[in-house]
Amino acid sequence: MKLVIAQMKHETNTYSPVPTPLARFGDGTSPPPEGAAAIAAYRGTGSAIGAFLELAEAAGAEVVVPIAAAAWPSGPVHDDAYEHIAGRIVDAVRAGCDGVLLDLHGAMVTQTHDDGEGELLRRIRAAVPGVPIGVALDMHTNLYDAMGEHADAIAGYQTYPHVDMHGTGLRAGRALLAKLQGHANPTMAWGRAAMLPHVMRQGTDDSPNRELQARCREMEAQGALAASVFVGFPNADILNAGLSAVVVTDGDAALARRWCDELLAMAWEQRAKFVYTIEPLADSIARAMRIAADKPAGSGPVVLLDHSDNCASGGTMDTMTVLGALLDAGARNAVAFAVYDPGAVQRMIAAGVGAELTLALGGKLDMPSLGLKGAPRTVTGRVRLICDGRYRNRGPMAAGETNHMGPTALFEVGGVQIVVISQHVEPHDLAAFQAVGLAPERLDLLMLKSRVHWRAGLKSLAHAVVECAGTGVCTSDYDALAFRKLRRPMYPLDPM
Ligand SMILES: [Zn+2]
Repeated sequence: MKLVIAQMKHETNTYSPVPTPLARFGDGTSPPPEGAAAIAAYRGTGSAIGAFLELAEAAGAEVVVPIAAAAWPSGPVHDDAYEHIAGRIVDAVRAGCDGVLLDLHGAMVTQTHDDGEGELLRRIRAAVPGVPIGVALDMHTNLYDAMGEHADAIAGYQTYPHVDMHGTGLRAGRALLAKLQGHANPTMAWGRAAMLPHVMRQGTDDSPNRELQARCREMEAQGALAASVFVGFPNADILNAGLSAVVVTDGDAALARRWCDELLAMAWEQRAKFVYTIEPLADSIARAMRIAADKPAGSGPVVLLDHSDNCASGGTMDTMTVLGALLDAGARNAVAFAVYDPGAVQRMIAAGVGAELTLALGGKLDMPSLGLKGAPRTVTGRVRLICDGRYRNRGPMAAGETNHMGPTALFEVGGVQIVVISQHVEPHDLAAFQAVGLAPERLDLLMLKSRVHWRAGLKSLAHAVVECAGTGVCTSDYDALAFRKLRRPMYPLDPM
């Protein structure tokens, strides 16, 4: 048995000004890995592709990995990057194989295609019509029919933060292997609900997504090969953004349909619980400062989430609204993770550790989709540390995978230590802090450019959480986003 195993992952924020060339799918210095390098990067990690490799090895299959390409969320994928990645995969499949296993995101938009994954699957089907395809998808998939039509088995993450990528790979991979070995006949039903859940209300610690995902697992315990609810990625102005579901059964199309419809009805029933209410920033900052002042010493930081500017949702990671408010409030014993500003890092490297300097920090990227110019903040501080910004995740999310912040500096401004980075990463793993010599559990205030994933590695440290509505292209204020291509009516944009 010969399997083609590949990865193509990008969550596209169509409002993001951050460009997405091929280089973004690499580590910052080289393009995305292929062949043995791709296997070395993901074998043994907590990823879906890592699970595919394990299953293939256990089945004694011959494996070809044409490419493993994952990039942090940003604007539409450049056409030449997409053609490179998709081309590598289609070429490998065309060279001959018995099955295909793909670790995809599900919300990829390219300069040309609003459904990057569906287009890839369509090309593979056209190249090798009879070869079965198994797909692992992120929970933030915006599902198009082409994905369902051209795949044999789809499984999606059932946790947010996504701590079950590996398990999802196992579910998709096992369904496909069962088909290849003649043990099962995966049969899928899929559908969408006219609702656009706010990301800030999508976490699986919280209702209603907790119950939706529990019902998916229950269906799997009752015989589904895979059951998935995709909460969708709303900062994408495409026809099929929003919530969807896919159920795979063993040859029972009616049951797959019934279960899929049940999941969609359950989500629709609970739609009001997916709506996020924004608190004015001044109130959030005042509340965070009050909690920090009153809490017992050593009880862990008050976490401030700068959720409008999360690079794992396409944020520029350089807006200064929340950090500026924190500095204005006189925050002490505080850390901000992180500000993306490669130019500022270079200035700090030139000045050297220990140097004091004044910088126009952050705010380098304009956000035309919001009608906003970048707004740097002039700060004076001391360079505390410079490092290469490379670390390996401890987990539980994406355990074992290596992250690259690029040249990184720690800049102390008053009572706030600001991590300044040259490549995007979302802080969801303790190792990111250890890489810059920080112990977050000893802080009073911790500002994170994150929405939900920070919970994976850091929630247990937090004394309290305060969600801070700053500035950025992953805003939860739908009124700030112009939806032109999204199908309507759509809850909660329209009265339904
Ligand atoms: Zn996701």
